[in-house]
Amino acid sequence: MIKIDNFINGEFYPCGEYLQGQNPASEAAFYQVANSSAIDVDSAIEAAEKSFYEWSTLDVEKRAEYLLALAKLIDENANHLAKLESLDTGKPLSLAKRVDIPRSAENFRFFAHAITQFASLSHPTPSSLNYTLKQPLGIVGCISPWNLPLYLLTWKIAPALAAGNCVIAKPSEMTPLTANELAHLSIEAGLPKGVLNIIHGKGSQCGEYLVGHSKIKAISFTGGTDTGKKIASRLAPMLTKYSLELGGKNAAVIFADCDYLSMLETTVRSSFTNQGEICLCTSRIFIEKTLYQQFITDFVEKVRALRIGKPLDDNTQVGALISKQHLQKVSHFVEKAMHNGGRVLCGGKAFNLEGKGYYYMPTVIEGLDAYDEVNQTEIFGPVVSIIPFEKEHEVITHVNSTTYGLATSLWTENLSRAHRLSAQIESGLVWVNCWMQRDLRTPFGGMKDSGMGREGGFDALDFFTEKKNICINFQ
Ligand code: NAD
Repeated sequence: MIKIDNFINGEFYPCGEYLQGQNPASEAAFYQVANSSAIDVDSAIEAAEKSFYEWSTLDVEKRAEYLLALAKLIDENANHLAKLESLDTGKPLSLAKRVDIPRSAENFRFFAHAITQFASLSHPTPSSLNYTLKQPLGIVGCISPWNLPLYLLTWKIAPALAAGNCVIAKPSEMTPLTANELAHLSIEAGLPKGVLNIIHGKGSQCGEYLVGHSKIKAISFTGGTDTGKKIASRLAPMLTKYSLELGGKNAAVIFADCDYLSMLETTVRSSFTNQGEICLCTSRIFIEKTLYQQFITDFVEKVRALRIGKPLDDNTQVGALISKQHLQKVSHFVEKAMHNGGRVLCGGKAFNLEGKGYYYMPTVIEGLDAYDEVNQTEIFGPVVSIIPFEKEHEVITHVNSTTYGLATSLWTENLSRAHRLSAQIESGLVWVNCWMQRDLRTPFGGMKDSGMGREGGFDALDFFTEKKNICINFQ
């Protein structure tokens, strides 16, 4: 049984209490993870506080070297990390190898370079000079979810460290394995003690305590909308900075003039990659009526052909869902869809392999109104709903009708329409004729209930720094 302890001040510390960790594909309990208390968080904050001055005043190039060393170590340990990610989440190993782990290394590499280019403005006049310092905040909290464990945790840790902050990271208690490995790699990379601390445990316990701690200068959070709102309500009266990346109910909007084959292949991927457990996954497909029947036939055929299987098998395209509880949530929404008059064109049931695992078949539903509860609520699983439309203005109203606003894919070869609709769609990201094509320099985040603030590029470095204007009078 693997035991995962907290990582504080460059060392591993046992905790008073542990949670049981499970492989969602085999249901085997194979590790125990610390369930931290306030005392553990306090120790981590104390360590971070002691390290802050030296880390924040280190040459930027030197900080970048540490991040590059971490990126290299992630690359060198990629196979091991990918296996841990697959065991912990139920995602296909091939996906973890192709996406999760390379991107985690890239996060460190990207921000190592970005920080060396993070300049500030000066405003000269004949009698004075104003210039702006962008200074690290101090100790910051980085809280991440279970769906892309190392990918999303490093997406926060890397800019926070690059900007000169000390970090208390709180990975999801459901997927702590790769964060624990990152702690080991940070020792190997020679990262100074106390600069990165990793606290494990329940969000309602150590997460809440971390958020409310007076020494925490900012919280970068990715997770559910309800949790995000709770965190915001806690932080607002304390005037603590926060950035929230929350849930989504993403649409694909498909016009008959699109590049059909490219759209078809990408929409299967955008709907079912990682079992639909990516915040950016498509869950509503709006399709122009003239293309509807052909699309339904071809799409369902492709979805039926997806290979569902054990996550560690090379051929597997769809693995297990994260937990029994999540499986029940997904099942509940499909039952609701049927109850509300939806027709299940494929999938629509849970299953197991050799009697084990939280698997759910990729599911396609038609016949639901755009305003049906199932088309308005985040399911976060392998379920898509297909809705026909006739008019441009009608589909934009439907797309914008949810409380969410994270990502939309727009499929059309009409350039004017692509520009016109992109501006009207209420989501932080609009992909035209593609999905999840990411450039780490661009702002990433959602509108409405999908979040507040932007990650990525200099936006992330801005978040993790405070601007100070200095005015020199030389009259
Ligand atoms: P969650 O909100 O339950 O948990 C996320 C993290 O917050 C975990 O580490 C958890 O322990 C912690 N947490 C929970 N309650 C807390 C509290 N009161 N105070 C402090 N920390 C707390 O979310 P989840 O189920 O792990 O993740 C799934 C959700 O994340 C989905 O809604 C998905 O859309 C969203 N998500 C969003 C993005 C994005 O970039 N917008 C990316 C991935 C996932």
